[in-house]
Amino acid sequence: MRENAISCIGCGRCSLVCGRDIAIPEYFRLYNEYAGGAQVSEEGKSAYREAANGRGLASDCIYCGSCESRCPQRIEVTLWLMRVAEAFE
Ligand code: SF4
Ligand code: SF4
Repeated sequence: MRENAISCIGCGRCSLVCGRDIAIPEYFRLYNEYAGGAQVSEEGKSAYREAANGRGLASDCIYCGSCESRCPQRIEVTLWLMRVAEAFE
């Protein structure tokens, strides 16, 4: 795994409690796949738009913190969502 990759196992516990319906595990998977270099490719951005499809964007996070207490990997979800938003939006 890359040093700046997110150690998400895709369990989905975070998105179950997210009031903004943010597709967290899907966005983290895309981040690991596409956001390694300086720029995210058009293909990556298009995959992000497809994953969002009516759901909350990474930038819709209100930092309530509900998701982070559920994460078995103790991922700082809010911090990574900021990075996802910077990379893909
Ligand atoms: S911190 Fe953000 S991603 Fe986590 S539950 Fe709250 S709104 Fe959703
Ligand atoms: S709870 Fe943690 S490990 Fe599970 S999908 Fe969310 S971020 Fe990934």
